[in-house]
Amino acid sequence: MKAWECYCDSLESSYVVFANTEAEAREIAIAKQDNDEYYIDVKRVIRFDKFYPQVPPKVLIEEEHWWWRCSNCSQMLGNDIDDDDLDMNDVVYGDDELVFCNSGCQAEYDKKLERMGIK
Ligand SMILES: [Zn+2]
Repeated sequence: MKAWECYCDSLESSYVVFANTEAEAREIAIAKQDNDEYYIDVKRVIRFDKFYPQVPPKVLIEEEHWWWRCSNCSQMLGNDIDDDDLDMNDVVYGDDELVFCNSGCQAEYDKKLERMGIK
């Protein structure tokens, strides 16, 4: 399966999708949008192919220098972010695409899920 990096203008964010063709990748990217006014830029990224079905956030953040939001408090995470309160050594990678500022944030998130009866 081929990896494609899609940048969506309206969400101001990028993500990686896996598809055989550029047209298919674009379709997947469009399906992720929550409005009709989007511009999506799709480009082939061969070095991500080996991660199918999902590029781990750890790789995107630490090797590719992508930004990410904490799944609990929405704090921006990334090596290039200039924030004295942020220590990238504390960042915790959870299941799927979950990433947390630190273990405290992860614990809070787990508690929230528990309260909602999901966990
Ligand atoms: Zn957080």
